[in-house]
This record gives sequence, structure tokens and C-alpha cells, in this order.
Amino acid sequence: MDRFVVKMACAGFLSGLLLLTGCGKKEFSLPESLKNADKEKGIYFAEKSVSFGDRYSGSENIRKYGDWIIKELKKFPGMEVEEEVFSCDTPTGNISFRNIIGKISGKSQDHVIVWAHYDTKRFSTFPFAGANDGASGTAALLLIADTLGKIQEKLPYTLHLVFFDGEECQEDYGENDGLHGSKYHAANLHKRKGKCKGMILLDMVGDKELCITPPKNSHSSLVALFEKAVESMDKNSLKGRYNGAILDDHVPFLEKNIPAVDLIDFSYGENNVYWHSPEDTMDKISGESIAFASDVTIRMLYNMKNTGL
Ligand SMILES: [Zn+2]
Repeated sequence: MDRFVVKMACAGFLSGLLLLTGCGKKEFSLPESLKNADKEKGIYFAEKSVSFGDRYSGSENIRKYGDWIIKELKKFPGMEVEEEVFSCDTPTGNISFRNIIGKISGKSQDHVIVWAHYDTKRFSTFPFAGANDGASGTAALLLIADTLGKIQEKLPYTLHLVFFDGEECQEDYGENDGLHGSKYHAANLHKRKGKCKGMILLDMVGDKELCITPPKNSHSSLVALFEKAVESMDKNSLKGRYNGAILDDHVPFLEKNIPAVDLIDFSYGENNVYWHSPEDTMDKISGESIAFASDVTIRMLYNMKNTGL
């Protein structure tokens, strides 16, 4: 994905940040079964995703991949699955897109969206695995569904797990290029029951050397919620802050005044060298990182009501 160019602020900034936030109090205690999402299952979901090959929007591979995601979602108890199918004119022609939504009912009809893009960037010069940029977020969402299916306690809000299509642009990000799925979903959000209380985006969360750094254009309450969740897990080295804004699937929702946070690690290899390259492969990601992303998101979901959102 293209980004507003910014500088990373993970390692150096982090040490100061820990001093400031290290004594945050715990807000609730997790059921034992939620304390560690399943690492092996997380990497399995990513491996399976990559096995479909290039998964760019409009391709036969992404159609098969989307069908597989739906099949997996339907395995989880109480999961209701919906599809949003639409088409857009893009610089390379009219493309059909499909968002996939898995819904888990909570104590309220108001809902929270956790989402990731499942399309991969199209490259003509090399086959693109998209292990981190595509597969890892999808795997984390499936792992969240799997983990929540094992516990009885309902979430405070209904959860919509949304797999967005068309995040990647064909040429350059613009009105008719890129973020197609998130723009479409945001434009139609008012038709849904209840209110959307907030959104958590998982993007590039599989890096073996993970450090999730929400960018500045994230909602401050959700960033604080994320940081508290990480502290409650004693995994402070896995968080930091991105010293700038990022153009990602959360932007169309921020523009509609919906609180949104981008949980992204945009430092993939030295100087982000693996990003959008033939090197974005399974050996660079880990089940531990995917499980962490899943676990921290679940903690945020259970604590969200305490933030006033
Ligand atoms: Zn990308």
C-alpha cells in the first residue's frame, strides 16, 4: 500500500514511551482461554492464504481465496456471513470486488469492525506471495473468530470481521484507484443496524520482528486502548508509534468521524525493504506475531466500552 511518506519511530521512541505508560492499570481480567491465541493455527491460516498464489482484485485466485475465507468463517459457531459485491471503474478497467463480512453477535446491536484487506498488490514482473501484506491480517481475523468461538462470554458489542477487497491500487492512489472495499463499506455503513462504535484495522501484522506502530491519523482513545492491552500482556517491546500519517483502509472511516485505529507494522525488513517485493514470503512472518495481533485485538474488544466509545 502507498503511504504518506513518514519516518519510523519504533525502537528509539519506544524506550521513552514505556516509562510514560508502563504503569497503566489493568481494566479487566481475561478468561484463561483467551490468554494465548493459537500460534500454529495463525500460521496455518497465513500459509493457506499464500497457497492461492497472487490474489489481486478481479483475479480467479482471489475468487477462490474469498470462497475459502467464507468456508472457514462458517465453521465458527454463531457466525453469520455476508458478502458485499460491487464494481468500480479503475485505471485498468472495470473490476468486480467482494468484501466478506463475518458477524458475531454481542450484547448490543451497536457494532465494532475489525478488518484487514485480503487482496494483494498486482505485479507483472514477479509472483507476489503477500505473506505479510495481505495474508497476515486475514489470518489474524480468522484466528480472532476461532478464539472467540471457544468462549461463552459475549462481546460488549456485535463484532463485524470485514475482509476488504481492493485495498491495493492499480497504479496510484486516487479517487478511482485503491481502498475500493473500505470506501464502499464506509459509504453504506448507515444502512446497517445499530451504530458503528469503532474500527480496528490489522495490516502487516505478521512480521517475525513485530512492532505495531499506530500512525498519527488514528483515534487517540483506540490507540490508548491498544497500548493498555499490550501492557496487560507484558509485551511492551511490540508496540510503538508511527511518527506520521498513513493512507490505509481506516481513512474512509475517519472521514466519516468513526473512531478508527490502524494497527500496522510498517517496518518490514531493514528500511521496509520486504514490503511490495518478492521477499514478502512465509519465512519472514511468524505464528507468534499473528497470534499477538489476534490476542491484543480481542482484549481491546472486551475493554472498548470502558473507553467511552
Ligand atoms: Zn500493499
